[in-house]
Amino acid sequence: MMLEAKEICKGFDGLGVLRGISLSIAQGEVMALIGPSGSGKSTLLRCLNQLETIDSGEITLDGETMCSMKDGVLTYAPEKKLRELTLRMGMVFQSFNLFPHRTVLQNLIDAPIRVKKMPREQATEQAHYFLKKVGLESKAGQYPYQLSGGQSQRVAIARALCMHPEILCFDEPTSALDPELTQEVLAVMRDLAQEKMTMMVVTHEMSFARDVADRVAFMEGGHIVEEGAPQQVFHSENPRTRQFIGLVSG
Ligand code: ADP
Ligand code: MG
Repeated sequence: MMLEAKEICKGFDGLGVLRGISLSIAQGEVMALIGPSGSGKSTLLRCLNQLETIDSGEITLDGETMCSMKDGVLTYAPEKKLRELTLRMGMVFQSFNLFPHRTVLQNLIDAPIRVKKMPREQATEQAHYFLKKVGLESKAGQYPYQLSGGQSQRVAIARALCMHPEILCFDEPTSALDPELTQEVLAVMRDLAQEKMTMMVVTHEMSFARDVADRVAFMEGGHIVEEGAPQQVFHSENPRTRQFIGLVSG
């Protein structure tokens, strides 16, 4: 498995937000995570990406332990190891999170140079390559404010790709976008899926979940209620799943 989580529990101020989440994603697989607002989807992605600590459970990336339970106590990998593993995962946020005062190119070369110690020339070369891949090769010199939301999100995807992640997580990447701009971002994500990029996508785009994902997980109240092939989940007998899918599909 590329990513495996077992019995993840996480609470804020004593309130359980993740209540024993287990999931695994194989290499090259696309998992769509759906569910109502407040069900814990973002928290789950943030915990997997080490943007939040968990309270208990186990996370492994490609067989390497990020954290696990030892004699009933949660134990994280040593800091250096944990950072190294976390760098193998990428994250794309709803709000793009580009540096506003830096050009697109600077946004794309910053982390490879600073974090991965990549030579500037190589970082620049691959930045142009990934910009071309998302259809924005002409935007290298522009600033984020000069881009549409759809373009900004495609830049954010290119920026994540510049770090060569083994798994790419998306947290509602199109929720801030108009329908038209949504489609151009989904098209980039479809291309990545076709190239067998391992992805975990929190989304309300049911057509994407149905047509692109290999597996769909429906989350509610800190639990994964149901998980399976899109065909199975979209034709679920489970009343909660049915109700949610009915609501978001109109
Ligand atoms: P989703 O992404 O499915 O909408 P979230 O993971 O954002 O859900 O939130 C799940 C629950 O956790 C919500 O009730 C939210 O208020 C709570 N929560 C999320 N982050 C924090 C935080 N940093 N501090 C306190 N509560 C939080
Ligand atoms: Mg969220």
